[in-house]
Amino acid sequence: MKREASIAIPDGDLQRLEAYGVAIRQIRSGQFLARQCLSVSGSTVDPANPVDVLGYELAQLAQWLELRFGEFRKILEVSEEISSELFAEKVLDRIYQTFSSLIPYDRIGCALLSENGQRLSAYWARASYENLKINKHYTADMAGSSLETTLVSGKPRIINDLEEYLFYHPDSVSTQLILAEGIHSNLTCPLIANGKPLGFLFFSSCQTNTYRDLHHDIFLQIAGQVSVLIERSLLYQQLFEVNRQLMEAHQQLKEQSMHDALTGVLNRGAIFELLNSHLCEAGRKKRLVAIIMADLDHFKDINDNHGHLAGDAVLHTVATTIEKTLRGYDHVGRYGGEEFLIILSEADVQTACEVAERVRQTVAALAVPCDGDVIRLSLRQGVALSYDDERADRLIARADAALYLAKQEGRNCYRLAPSGIAK
Ligand code: GH3
Ligand code: MG
Ligand code: MG
Repeated sequence: MKREASIAIPDGDLQRLEAYGVAIRQIRSGQFLARQCLSVSGSTVDPANPVDVLGYELAQLAQWLELRFGEFRKILEVSEEISSELFAEKVLDRIYQTFSSLIPYDRIGCALLSENGQRLSAYWARASYENLKINKHYTADMAGSSLETTLVSGKPRIINDLEEYLFYHPDSVSTQLILAEGIHSNLTCPLIANGKPLGFLFFSSCQTNTYRDLHHDIFLQIAGQVSVLIERSLLYQQLFEVNRQLMEAHQQLKEQSMHDALTGVLNRGAIFELLNSHLCEAGRKKRLVAIIMADLDHFKDINDNHGHLAGDAVLHTVATTIEKTLRGYDHVGRYGGEEFLIILSEADVQTACEVAERVRQTVAALAVPCDGDVIRLSLRQGVALSYDDERADRLIARADAALYLAKQEGRNCYRLAPSGIAK
């Protein structure tokens, strides 16, 4: 076969083709300004000259690439920004702060599906103005609504004149409310995370005709990522809330397990543990710990004469009265039936005796109402101070001995244990 003769390219065109090659290499490395070297202004393009046409087409392609590259970079920046948040409301706040470089808006709202996708509930909204009319309490039926169709299509929907939309859909409460806020156009973006419908993101503008296909396309590019992020942040928020409730329940249980159900003061185990830790600390710091063992006089008679419930009420009143009479950093616990153990931090003999006398007088002044009558009480106490790293059980034994002395000496009084008894 005979080879065809090669076509001679004029020198001028050859130089232009070489310049195009350089410009394309520059564009590939992100220097989009180089597209100026490709441009043959539209009016001077000679359609019969293939080099002219090539230059024009390449310039168009470069412009398109620059635009898309810019959008892509913005989308990347925005998704990086919003991914840095963990809580749903924070993610949405970030969307509000950063999306304006991609989509115009005066308001963004987020609504989530509830009741198995049957209802839509407003979850979050932010706007450049105040007095939002669609707030957290707003819910609407999904079945048969235009939103249901949008969700099924998975594509954003543009309404560029809400007044006109209301004219054709006069029953649309959400349109009435949003118009009352001053909004005139809307871009409704379905949130679908890994195939699971989640709800909607609404971009709204106070102007009519704000949204273009471009905004629709931009959201489509980022929709999956935004949806997954919102879903993840909602799950995180739920998890955080459940964890907080668990911790609260755990704390409540711990509190309950430390307190006496009838009187509300610390129970025997807790007051004993507290005494041990006070003694340890006092041992390290070479300080004294004072304790008072208190016992209600003739308490059995109250049960016998007024009944067990009256006895219970008396125990509650006495416990709370002792607690109120103490200094903020002292403690009382129910040691046994009608016996209470008081721990006084950093108290010397004189302070401990003063507290015991104050408690005695306060209990003696009580008049517990019962069946139209009042019950009078008295309390005896044994006071003991720890010496030389004394153990809790030994200290309690000395306070008990002093308490026994107070009983022998006529009740309604306190006695101080001499140091060293029962050691
Ligand atoms: P004393 O002056 O010697 O201390 O005599 P007392 O009657 O106070 O002491 P005693 O040890 O003889 O009786 C204590 C009573 O406290 C007997 C018990 O039934 C009663 N008691 C113990 N726990 C409770 C309680 O939770 N509620 C009521 N109502 N009574 C209780
Ligand atoms: Mg007793
Ligand atoms: Mg008693």
